Order: sequence, then C-alpha cells, then structure tokens
Amino acid sequence: MTPEFFDSTRATGLSEPEAARRQQVEGYNELPQGTRRGVFTIALEVMREPMFLLLVACGSLYLLMGELSDALMLLAFVFVVMGITIVQERRTERALDALRDLSSPRALVLRDGQQRRIAGREVVRGDLLLLSEGDRVPADAVLRQALNLYADESLLTGESVPVRKASSEASTQTGKPGGDDLPHVFSGSLITRGQGLAEVVGTGPRTELGKIGKALQTIEQEKTPLQGETGRMVRQLAVVGLGLCAVVIVAFALTRGNTPQSWGQGVLAGIAMAMAVLPEEFPVILTIFLALGAWRISRSRVLTRRMPAIETLGAATVLCTDKTGTLTHNQMTVRQLYTDGQTFVSSPDATLPECFHALLEYGVLASKKEVFDPMERALRDMGDDLLGDTEHWHDQWEMVRDYPLSPELLALSHVWRATSGDTFIVAAKGAPEAIADLCHMEPKQVEALVEQVSRMAKEGLRVLGVAHAHWSQDQLPQEQHDFHFEFLGLVGLEDPIRSTVPATVQECYTAGIRVIMITGDHPDTARSIARQIGLRSQEQVVTGPELDVMSDEELASRIPNVDVFARVVPEQKLRLVNALKANGEVVAMTGDGVNDAPALKAAHIGIAMGGRGTDVAREASDLILLDDDFGSIVRAVRLGRRIYDNIKKAVGYTLAIHVPIAGLSILPVFFADWPLLLLPVHIVFLELIIDPACSLIFEAENAEKDIMLRVPRRPDERLFNFQVVMVSVLQGGGVLAALLIMYWFSGVFGHGGEDSRRAFVFTTLVAGNLALILTNRSWVRNFAAMFREPNAALWWVVCGAGVMLGLVLSVPALRDVFHMGALQPQEVELCVLAGFLSVGWFEVWKQLRRR
Ligand code: ADP
Ligand code: MG
Repeated sequence: MTPEFFDSTRATGLSEPEAARRQQVEGYNELPQGTRRGVFTIALEVMREPMFLLLVACGSLYLLMGELSDALMLLAFVFVVMGITIVQERRTERALDALRDLSSPRALVLRDGQQRRIAGREVVRGDLLLLSEGDRVPADAVLRQALNLYADESLLTGESVPVRKASSEASTQTGKPGGDDLPHVFSGSLITRGQGLAEVVGTGPRTELGKIGKALQTIEQEKTPLQGETGRMVRQLAVVGLGLCAVVIVAFALTRGNTPQSWGQGVLAGIAMAMAVLPEEFPVILTIFLALGAWRISRSRVLTRRMPAIETLGAATVLCTDKTGTLTHNQMTVRQLYTDGQTFVSSPDATLPECFHALLEYGVLASKKEVFDPMERALRDMGDDLLGDTEHWHDQWEMVRDYPLSPELLALSHVWRATSGDTFIVAAKGAPEAIADLCHMEPKQVEALVEQVSRMAKEGLRVLGVAHAHWSQDQLPQEQHDFHFEFLGLVGLEDPIRSTVPATVQECYTAGIRVIMITGDHPDTARSIARQIGLRSQEQVVTGPELDVMSDEELASRIPNVDVFARVVPEQKLRLVNALKANGEVVAMTGDGVNDAPALKAAHIGIAMGGRGTDVAREASDLILLDDDFGSIVRAVRLGRRIYDNIKKAVGYTLAIHVPIAGLSILPVFFADWPLLLLPVHIVFLELIIDPACSLIFEAENAEKDIMLRVPRRPDERLFNFQVVMVSVLQGGGVLAALLIMYWFSGVFGHGGEDSRRAFVFTTLVAGNLALILTNRSWVRNFAAMFREPNAALWWVVCGAGVMLGLVLSVPALRDVFHMGALQPQEVELCVLAGFLSVGWFEVWKQLRRR
C-alpha cells in the first residue's frame, strides 16, 4: 500500500542536489557500525586458534632444541597462515556488509515532487517521508499530514499498544515517544495503521533510537543446522585428536629410549599429529560457504535475511506462491466491459458505445486519483482514453471518504462531492460476489451474473464488479452496506503471465518440487492462469470460504492433490503452511502484506516481496525477492542446492585428505625403526593447499548438470552421513596405500636414508592431495571433462602447489628445512604418478555409477 491521499502539489520535498549535500554534511542515516572488525581484531582472533597455538608451540620447541632454521620456517608460515585467514575473513565480511546495505529498511520519500524509494540509510534531514501501514519509520520525523495513523513504538517505550498520531504544521522539535495524538514519529517504530506524510527532523545517531544506541538488525547471524552438526563433529574429533596426541607423545618417547631427546621428538610427533587431525577447516568451510552463498544468491536478486534459509532452500519440496505480480507481471489492462448483456472488447481505436459509459465512469471513480494499484491504473488509463473529454470525466471532484477493502468484503467504495449539487456520489468496485452482495441482487440475477463472471474469468481475466449510489444526508454511514447500490456491470482485466514462468514451473517439477498457487482472485481466473503456466493439477480449486469450513484432517487429506487456492485471504495462508508442514513438506511461501507475516514466519522459507512488500513482511521473512519474480525463487533454490553440494564436496575432500596425513603421523609411532615422516613443516605446507582448496575452489564450483533433476534433499539428511564418510575414508585410504608403497619402494631401491624416504613420501602425498582436489570437484563428472570447466582458483592453487613443491625439491636450502633428500626427475614423476593413480579408482566409480 502506498499513501495516495495526500496532495503532492502542496509539497515537493527536497531536491536531489540538496539531499546529496545534506548527506555529505550530516552523514548516512545509520548508527556507527560497531560490528566491523579491523585487521588487528581478526589477527588477535587468529592467535587464539588451536592451529596457531600449535604452530607457536612447535616453533618454540625447535628453538629450545636449538634448531633455528626449523623454528624460523615455522614462524614464517605462521604469518602466511594468518595472512590467508585475514584475507578470507575480510572477503566474508564484505559479502555480508553488501547484503546488509541491500536489505536495510527502505524509505519512500518525496524529492523534486516525485516519489522515490530509497535505502533507509540515504534519508536526510528535511526529507518528506510517505508512511503507510506496515512501514518501519526510517528516521525521526514530524507528521505534516496524517490519516488515521497509528504507530507501534514498543521498541522505544516497551509499550505494545500502538499510539494514535496527529499532524502538525508547525512543530519542528522532536518529542518523546509514547502518548496519543502527538505529531512525532520515531525511527524504528512501526506504522500499524493509516497513512501519513512526515518531515524528517533527525537521522542516524541523532534519532531517539540512535541515542539509546540500538541498531535495527537486518541480518541475523544465527547458527544454521549444518553449523550445529559440524560443531558437534569438530568437538568429537578434537577430543579424539588430543587423546591420540597424548598417546603418540608417550609411545614415541618410550619406544625410542626414553631419553630427553626422544621426548622432544615425541612432543614434535604429537603436535604434528594434533595438527594433522584437528578438523579446524570444517567451521571455516561453513562460514565462508554460507556468507559467499548469500552473496551469490543476492546476485540472482534474492536477499538472505536468515542464513539457515540457504541450507533449507536445497531441501524445499513445495513452493507456495502468490499469483499477482509473482507469476504475472502485475501490469493490468482492461480487456472487456460487460453491462446488461452486452460486451465491449477493447481494441486500439475503438470508440466506446454510450451504454458502457456509466460503467467505466464509476470504475474510474472507484479508483484513486494518484494510482499505484495496477488495476486502478488500467481503469484510469482507459477512462482517460475513451471518456477524457466527455461529461463522464470528473477531474475537479473531491474525494471525501474511502471505505477500504476488507477480508470479509472484497470491495471498496469512494465517496465524492460533485462540483454541483449537494449529494454525495458513491462508486464501488470489487469482487463480483461482493458487489452483488452490496447491490442486494435477486437470486436469479446473481445466477446470471455468476455465469457471466465465470465466462470472463475462464479467459484468464480478473473480473471486477462496479456499482454506484447516491447519499444525500450530511453524515456518511459506517459501512458500505448502508448505501443503496445499483449494479452497473463488469470489468475484465488482463494481467499477462511472466513469459519465463511455464518453463520454470516445469523445472520445479523435474526437481521434485511442487508449486502451489495462492490467490485472492476468482477460482476461474486462477484455473485459467494455472493452465497457462502448466500447473500439474489445474482443475481442483479450493476457495477461501471452503477452506474456512474444512477441518484440519480434511485439509491434510486434500492438500496433496490441490495446487490452486483461490479467493484466499492472507490469514488463511498460515493454515495452508501448517497443513503442508504436517504432511512432512518443506515449505517456501511468498507474501507481501502485513497479514502475511504469520505465514511467512511459519514457513520453512518465508519469502517477502522486495518491490511491493511491507517492512513487516520483510522482517518476518528469511529471504527477500528483489524483483518479485517467481523465476528468482527457483534460481535461489538451484543455488541452495549447489551450495549444499559444494559444502558436501569440500567436507568430503577435507575428511579424505586427513586420512593419509593422520596415517603417516601415527604409523612411525608403532614401527620403532621408522623415522618421523611428517614434521610440522610438512603439515603446514599441506594446510596451505588444503585451506584455499576448501574455501576457494569448492566454493566456486559450478552446479552439477543434474542438480535440478534430483529430488529435494531430505531435511533430516546428515552432512557427515555414512556415504560421505565412507567415500572419504576410501579416498584417503587409497592415498595412504600409495604412500606406503612409495615408502617401501624407496627402501628397496637404495634410498633407505630417512631424508630420501621422506622426499618420496611427501612428494607423493602432495600429488595425491592435488588429485583429491581435482576428483572431488564433482562426484558425477569425470576428471578429464572438468579440465574444460573453468575455476580460476583451481589453477592458482594447483600451479601454486606445483611451484612450491618444485622449489622445495630443487633448492638445497629449502630441502634442508623440509628435511628431504634430493630426487631424480624420474623419481619425482613416479611419485606424482603414484599420487594420481591412488585416487584413480574414484574416477572409475563415477563412470560406473553413471551407467
Ligand atoms: P491476488 O492474490 O491476486 O493479489 P488480492 O488478494 O490482491 O488478489 O485481491 C483479491 C480480490 O480482491 C481481487 O480479485 C478483487 O476482486 C478484489 N480487489 C483487490 N484489490 C482491489 C481494488 N483495488 N479494487 C477493487 N477490488 C479489489
Ligand atoms: Mg494482491
């Protein structure tokens, strides 16, 4: 709803240059952000990470043991790791910041005499705000005009009863919140009823809300179910890891002579072990994937307000959508007029026969002068066109009262004072049943009318009835029913469907997702639209009144087969959501009005309209649809599935690579003649590949081709399920086997020295690691096919790792720090081959599974 009552000739608001100037001087209308963390804070946080502490512990130990170069190498790595973490965190935070700006409350202001919808933070002192039901007030302001306006100021006063507001021409001071009939409205309060025009007197920290330092939160950083599951997993693994670490230290020291030397070695081995098994990547993966996921989704014009929605999107089984504006363009044109048995079909240069004049005249009178409702715009356009210079066009008349639409009566009336004569003229339009009711029609007439309406509605037209009345008393009545209306005829409006919708609906079907259309429109219109967009079951339509008399059990049994609900009022959406949920569905539901809020809250994924939605609906929602387009919802679902998929891949890979690392760390403990193969420096080297692999490569991986051909993920599916863990363990086991073979091989072929064996094993491990990354990019597509699919980060990481390994193998100084012997080129090739072959079986498995 947009305020339309006020007279925009009297006020023009600020000019854009003046507004820009004030913004320069006074700043944005927002509170100084306390949440943004600087580099230093992030660095401090990194220092508390277990991985960091382990590295430092290790470095110190080396210093104690007098091994300076080892110590320096590790400390250098510490800074690299810290740098990477800081870059990652900033990237994540920037993504979230961008979202926060986009989803911050919006404001409707008057500038240069024009209505503009701007971000709430761009409001400046002196702006004229247009307020209406469901809006959050963006700044402190004084009402200049108010019509029946109530505001909920509980955020400031704690008092939950809305207070009535009055307007004032003079006041410029801000007052205090609370109390009836005052002209002040306050930032953060909610307009619960009525309309108003208010002049801003305070913004940002100068508002009452700003003074108490409360910021309106726009993105809630709550933990998602996946984060919960992962948190538990990490804690369990950490306990196991620490236990192992203790075992390793003791076992190592005792099996190697129980000397101070061996204890030193033992502690090193223990720390390496802890580094190898600490699953610190998992939480990082989730944070990054979800934040960047929200950013990706925003690029398909959908804003995320609650992070869990990103996960739930991939599991959605039902999309409940409004018809008007989401499935259709919400751009109406009048196609047909009907009066007294005659039909007029509009065409470009037709003239309107006299008998239709009154119908159109009152249709226009039942519309606002400054129209935003597309239906009313269509009527006015047609009136302007065909009646513009007749006695049926009343530009001078003044509207004295309007009776709004209500859920009980889908009709509205406008009362006008004619320029001559002293009677009021009343024009009503609305759903034909409601108009018939207002006109007290005979049953026979109603029957004929219903038939005609149905005929028009079956063509997909939205049908409105129009009626008129006169009123000659001074006092206007309480209700529309008190007028004596006379029926004038029917108007048929066309609202074309969005051309992409039929294909998108089919995409939902192949993806195992049901689409349910919910509309306030006539059942026949709904049915016709359902047919046009290709809904699965178009014939069965349940109407709002039928819904009212249906028991919950009956609804639950019928809802699996009904895809169209017509003449539904927003309050009934909640029942539909609950019925669907009771049947085990994962429900996404769209809505825009104040009354949609409960249903949006109750749905697993509440989707508010960004274009025409109220702030109340936006605040109750999980996602905000910026362009109101049904296609964007489905794109978001697709992205949700992709994000979940990629999280699974990253987690699977991370589990897999830790198997050989942990294996190599623990085996030497039990074979007393084995040297320590992996030292902390090797593990850090590997981490430098693993970290960006998870956060950059897998995050950016494209959706699998079949992503919208699968059924929705079960909502109770665990991330660490048997299949994922099994595949990871087998993959990692394969690499470990290759490592052992190379260990054995190096001994047999005369490289028995500790450093040579380490060189063989480590080179193979790095190769195996890269192979794991490449193969886990997809569990469907094969390795070779993916070379053609770009993933910029992939090549950076793979080439970077190759170059680093090359340096370590060829520069003698580096070789020393890594405690590795020199390898012949053929030997390096052999190691790389072994590393890649060790994961090769997975490629075969992919092929077999595809058959
Ligand atoms: P939808 O779900 O298609 O958006 P609405 O809930 O907005 O439908 O409207 C339901 C019915 O209420 C319409 O089919 C129409 O009969 C009536 N209606 C809605 N808006 C108006 C209006 N501005 N003037 C007259 N009737 C209206
Ligand atoms: Mg509507």
